[in-house]
Amino acid sequence: MNKATRKAVIAGNWKMNNNRPQTKALIAELLAGLKTSAVDVIVGVPFTNLETALQAAAGTPVKVSAQNVHFAESGAYTGEISAAQLKELGVPYAIIGHSERRQYFGETDQTVNLRTKAALSAGIIPIVCVGEYLQERQDDITGEVLSRQLKLGLKGLTADEVAGLIIAYEPVWAIGTGETATAEQAQEACKLIRDVIVGLHGKATADSVVIQYGGSMNAKNARELLSKPDVDGGLIGGASLKSADFLSIINDANDLY
Ligand code: PEP
Repeated sequence: MNKATRKAVIAGNWKMNNNRPQTKALIAELLAGLKTSAVDVIVGVPFTNLETALQAAAGTPVKVSAQNVHFAESGAYTGEISAAQLKELGVPYAIIGHSERRQYFGETDQTVNLRTKAALSAGIIPIVCVGEYLQERQDDITGEVLSRQLKLGLKGLTADEVAGLIIAYEPVWAIGTGETATAEQAQEACKLIRDVIVGLHGKATADSVVIQYGGSMNAKNARELLSKPDVDGGLIGGASLKSADFLSIINDANDLY
């Protein structure tokens, strides 16, 4: 399996934006502009908008993701949401280990691992985020960082579980900054990620895992990034809040697949 047989996945990460009417409106705009698509389209919405998003997207090609999931099944974890609770709502995806969670909320490779396992046990597909800080890139340790994040974050998962994951390569220096990795940098890192998976679980598993690029992807730069052989899609923050931009990225992916 390779890019020709892997599906492209374009996922929006709305972060802490949009209320329920805005959620309905944005999904309606996406649906109105979406052509029959070879691309999986996901919107990652705040917890409070999940039900609205699920209703607005029901029976359509647009799928809904949470932006986090807790690792415990239930209990004294004030403010947290479990995988079972997401599953009960009908949420099929969860973003895990986003760099904003790692930076501001103490997320570690270990908690990423626990959350990933919890999501998988509930039948939720994790979108696992990895990526280096600018200083780490300048110190030429990007490979080491990605390798560590993957080995610890995916520890104990079976090959089949890893094969079904979405991994988002998101260099921290490119998130929300307007500074995008070059297509060559994105390809190099996504290939490196695939090679780490080859080392962990073999080529067949690595060939089927979807690896996205994320970091200031927009309507202008998406086509070049998505054309790279190991870049199977995008995790998109800012540009996913504007339907025209998000649709343009989806259409670029569609053309390339
Ligand atoms: C993100 O939040 O995952 C992201 C990539 O944000 P942006 O596209 O705004 O850089």
